[in-house]
Amino acid sequence: MKFGGTSVADPDAVTRLIGIVRRQLATQVSDTSQTRVRLVSDTCQTPVVVVSALSGVTDAMIDVTRLAEEGDGEQAAIALRALRERHVSVASAVTRQSRDTVLAAVRAEFEELTGLVHALAVLREVSPRSLDAVIATGEVLSSRIVAAALADQGIPSAWVDARRVLVTDAEHTVASPEMIATCERTRELIAPVTKSGQVAVLGGFIGATASGVTTTLGRGGSDYSASIVGACLGVSEIQIWTDVDGMLTADPRVVPLPRLVPQLSFAEASELAYFGAKVLHPSTILPAVGKNIPVRILNSHRPESPGTVITADGHPANGQLTAIACKRNVTVIDITSTRMLMAHGFLRRLFEVFERFKTAVDVVTTSEVSVSVTVDDTRRLDAIIDNLRNFAEVSSEPEMAIISAVGENLRSDPTLFGRAVTSLQRIPLRLVSQAAGRRNITFVLRDADLPSAMGQLHETFFEQRAITKTR
Ligand code: ASP
Ligand code: MG
Repeated sequence: MKFGGTSVADPDAVTRLIGIVRRQLATQVSDTSQTRVRLVSDTCQTPVVVVSALSGVTDAMIDVTRLAEEGDGEQAAIALRALRERHVSVASAVTRQSRDTVLAAVRAEFEELTGLVHALAVLREVSPRSLDAVIATGEVLSSRIVAAALADQGIPSAWVDARRVLVTDAEHTVASPEMIATCERTRELIAPVTKSGQVAVLGGFIGATASGVTTTLGRGGSDYSASIVGACLGVSEIQIWTDVDGMLTADPRVVPLPRLVPQLSFAEASELAYFGAKVLHPSTILPAVGKNIPVRILNSHRPESPGTVITADGHPANGQLTAIACKRNVTVIDITSTRMLMAHGFLRRLFEVFERFKTAVDVVTTSEVSVSVTVDDTRRLDAIIDNLRNFAEVSSEPEMAIISAVGENLRSDPTLFGRAVTSLQRIPLRLVSQAAGRRNITFVLRDADLPSAMGQLHETFFEQRAITKTR
């Protein structure tokens, strides 16, 4: 069970977390009798809890290191005191018997951190390695507080130092786990805790090299930690507790009443994430999905909501798309060359221009004589067009939008494509493409037409069937 920053933000959030873990413990026991729980480590029935730093803390700590780098030790110390007070007040609010112990631990962490930041401010230098040492404190603190709070509420729990569990390479701030070593440590340090019936609580996002130097896995890395530990333990499910119900069938800023997507495949989740469905970064759950462990996104404000389950293959309902995503304000560039297109090397030259100006291309379609691409970063558009004009005719059109209709069913059900296009019949489509994966159809159209196009697609695929519960 991974709890993100907003799910440990304040005393109320920690109290909700305790309720959710308590409920999980109760379900686990009754579930085993029905053999619904598929557990690799035989007798284990107790969840492992992975937490992010309290919301905003990682950003605040990065700010502290900036102040240190500028040599402003005084402001850095003031910011650290505010952070300490926030942690002290949350820790005191959620504990009673264990209050003194946890407050002593929190204060000790801050004492060490203050010394470190002072040294960085004197040197006016923050290396990636030092940055990791500072920001890792956020997860150390939150996990200590949550472990103490659970114990205080009568849930047997033990704090586990994630830096001893997650063994990583030395790529500071974007470290990668060494899975074999990490799984060994997981078996050594977490499995016994779980077996003894205690909830192991550890910080996400942080680890250490084999020689014990603190590292972090990249921003938002707590999901990754949960997925790594879950994969090593072979758990029955990984739960990502956050502040939304799960993945939605469309962006609520564009479609007024999107539905909750009950389940989707890893590949679908990846397509949607590309278009900005920011619930989680799919690559962070790869270790779990690779082991066929379902990952469920849940809302800690509404724990009764079923959430969205991501599995390796997904189980799409017949005749349905899974979701539609969109990206607004893109520019279409049309590149035409009657002479060159079929000549080999044309596409290479074309894409080299985008490469040279470090501009990512989203959608590409080609015909016999022209290539159309979309870009959303237009900072170097003029230079790109100038360079393309050396070997082709070029025109561009701003204020366009991309719709991506995503669904595993597109692979097997050819009528879906037809229904999608039919539902858009009154809307001029600029480009249409379906790539080899065949899990999505991409439409490019005028941005002004986007809301009605999304509305029509959504109605066709999601509003003419039983309504799934959503917020
Ligand atoms: N606390 C870290 C961050 O804000 C990791 C996480 O929240 O997943 O990036
Ligand atoms: Mg966070």
